[in-house]
Amino acid sequence: MLYLCATPIGNLEDMTFRAIRILREVDLIAAEDTRRTRKLLTHFDIHTPLIRFDENCSATVAEKILERLQSGESVAVVSDAGLPAISDPGADLVRLAIDAGIQVCPIPGANAALSALICSGLDTTKFLFAGFAPKSKKNRHDFLQKLSTLDATIIFYEAPHRLKDFLAELIEIFGDRQTVLARELTKVHEEFLRGNLSELIQNLDEVRGEFVIVVEGSTSPEIIAPTENISEVVEKFLAQGLDKKSAMREAAKIFNVSRREIYNTLLKEDIQ
Ligand code: SAM
Repeated sequence: MLYLCATPIGNLEDMTFRAIRILREVDLIAAEDTRRTRKLLTHFDIHTPLIRFDENCSATVAEKILERLQSGESVAVVSDAGLPAISDPGADLVRLAIDAGIQVCPIPGANAALSALICSGLDTTKFLFAGFAPKSKKNRHDFLQKLSTLDATIIFYEAPHRLKDFLAELIEIFGDRQTVLARELTKVHEEFLRGNLSELIQNLDEVRGEFVIVVEGSTSPEIIAPTENISEVVEKFLAQGLDKKSAMREAAKIFNVSRREIYNTLLKEDIQ
C-alpha cells in the first residue's frame, strides 16, 4: 500500500491520530525533506526509516520505492506541509504505483488551500485550485488571462517575496475583485486580510509568512462560447449594457488577446 499522508501546515496539532499510527506502522516514509520530517517524527515518537523523495530526485529513487512496494512493503509519502501531491511532490509516485497495480490510500488532514477557502467568506460551492502561477512573466500572464473569465472562486499559492507583484498582476488582469489573503494558517499569527485587491495592495506593508490568495470568481454578465467571432461577442456585451471600452475588455479576456487587437478587428469589420 502507498499512503499519501497529510502533515501539519503550521500547528503540530494539525496532525491526525491516523497519520501518527500509519507513519509508525509503514516500513518506509518517503519525505520531501528528511531533516524536517525527522523533527516531526521525533515529536510524535515515530521511528520509521526515511528516504528523501523530492522533485529533484532521480527516477531511480521512485523505482526503488516502487520495488519495495512490489515486494509487499508499505510506504507513506509526506511533504514538508499539508497534503503531498498538492503543489508538492507525490503525484508522479501515485501514477507509477497505479500503473504497477499497487493500491494508494489517502490519509487526509491539513491543507492550506481548503483551510483558506472555508474561512474566506467567498463562494465555496464552485472553486478552482490554481496553485502557484508560472514564474515566467509571459506564461503567468497567459495563465491568469485564461482564469479571468471563470465564474468560480480561485485559490492561489504564492511565495511571500512575490506576493505584492502577484497582486498587482491580478488586479490588472482580473479587475478589482474581492480577495482574501489567508496568512500563517493554523500558526500563532494566523490572520485573514479581506477586501478588494486595490485595498489589500494599499494596506499591505511588510509581507511576512506564508499566504494563500483566494479570489472571487468572474462576475461578467455571461461567458460566451469561443466559437463566436469577435464582433458578435462585443455586440453581445454592448447589448447587455456595457460601454464600448468595457465590452472590448471583456471580449479581449474571452479571446485571450489584447484590447488593441479587438479594436483593430472591429475597425476592419467597421463596427467601431
Ligand atoms: N502541500 C501543501 C498543502 O497541502 O497546502 C502546500 C505546499 S506549497 C509548496 C506551499 C504554499 O502553500 C505556500 O507558499 C503558501 O502559499 C501555502 N501555505 C502552506 N502553509 C501555509 C500556511 N500555514 N498558511 C498560509 N499558506 C500556507
